[in-house]
Amino acid sequence: VIPLGEAQDYVRSMLVPLHPVEVPLEEALGCVTSESVIARELVPGFDNSSMDGYALQAADTVIAPVKLRVIGTILAGDIASSRLSSGEAMRIMTGAPLPAGADSVCMIEETSDDESGHTVVIRRAVTAGENVRRPGEDVVIDQILIEPGVELVGAQIGVLASQGFESVRVHPRPRVGVLSTGNELSGPGATLEPGKIRDTNRPMLLALLRESGFAVCDLGISRDDPVSIAEALQRGVDTCDVVVSTGGVSVGDVDYVKTVLADICDGQARWMQVAIRPGKPFAFGVAGSKKKPIFGLAGNPVSTRIGFEMFVRPTLQYLSGYQEFERTRVNMTLDCPINRSRDGKLHLVHVTGRLHDDGQWHIESAARQGSHLLNAVAGANALALVPDGEGIEIGETVSALLLHDTASSPASGR
Ligand code: AMP
Ligand code: MG
Repeated sequence: VIPLGEAQDYVRSMLVPLHPVEVPLEEALGCVTSESVIARELVPGFDNSSMDGYALQAADTVIAPVKLRVIGTILAGDIASSRLSSGEAMRIMTGAPLPAGADSVCMIEETSDDESGHTVVIRRAVTAGENVRRPGEDVVIDQILIEPGVELVGAQIGVLASQGFESVRVHPRPRVGVLSTGNELSGPGATLEPGKIRDTNRPMLLALLRESGFAVCDLGISRDDPVSIAEALQRGVDTCDVVVSTGGVSVGDVDYVKTVLADICDGQARWMQVAIRPGKPFAFGVAGSKKKPIFGLAGNPVSTRIGFEMFVRPTLQYLSGYQEFERTRVNMTLDCPINRSRDGKLHLVHVTGRLHDDGQWHIESAARQGSHLLNAVAGANALALVPDGEGIEIGETVSALLLHDTASSPASGR
């Protein structure tokens, strides 16, 4: 039995990052940059008006109110056909380039134009530069716009568009194949035969992966038979970047996944007994020249969920170029006890945590523990890392990983 950290380090040591790719801007949302993005255009690109109003020379308005001669109109996208001189004004719309000779804009609400449109009264003194947006105020050429390792959000896609970029270099999102193994598994629909159960892990993993923004591939259900398992895992390696299978990694008579996985990985694999509960048995290896990771997670649904959090998700975050692989970790104060007994393992307990007005995270409820009790943990928003010992009392604190921003329902619900 090895500590969790050792198992995670082994996985990390085997990983080879995916080659960065150039993706069109419309596909870049949520991707992680693989290099700095450098500005190539000035924004704003020229002096322009921030208001609908009149472009003028501020010096003319010192004795306001003052009447100026209107010599034309400039719309956004146009350029003025003539230069503006003292005593003159030009009607100007937001975003239109400031005409040569003008140094400021008086907003329309502070002017009165006469019927003819030939003159305008500027009602108050305007300061030089007022309502003018200057070139490079937002972005100057050669500045770093986005650092490497940044997950692109909507506004950053906007910045890239403002620079005329059509594509951006990012880490590819790994495509993940998901396989369930077990003679007992049935799909949805048709009534269950005696002794059979519903395949829970595959739909759950496909959803958990999507929830974290990864592309998925459904590898179906394999029977507990080495040939079928090998065929399914190989199909995953051939068509995906990463493969996750569940079941068949314990010490049962038909737990073939761990040996088949080691075969496919040509020895670059390890079967581990990890000192965590749930999720103790775990197999991992890398296959082929591209060293594609294959995970063999324990089959009980809560174990699978924990294996996803402890091993799969951090790996995918790493391969996707994130600087942070782990979920956000916070200290939480217990409002209810978490009971456990000493067994040499780290217990991963699903809890409902809430940030209270005192600025502290509180654990309001902890799920009933049992690797087969998925419904009991499904609504939890955090995973408490309960160290070996006799448990934790009300008022004490424990470190927890945030799984979601909000809690939809109490973690202990039946
Ligand atoms: P195993 O790791 O194959 O020994 O499976 C451990 C337990 O998890 C057994 O009770 C299995 O029936 C159950 N199990 C395995 N795979 C799944 C699955 N895909 N969905 C639901 N339960 C599963
Ligand atoms: Mg099994």
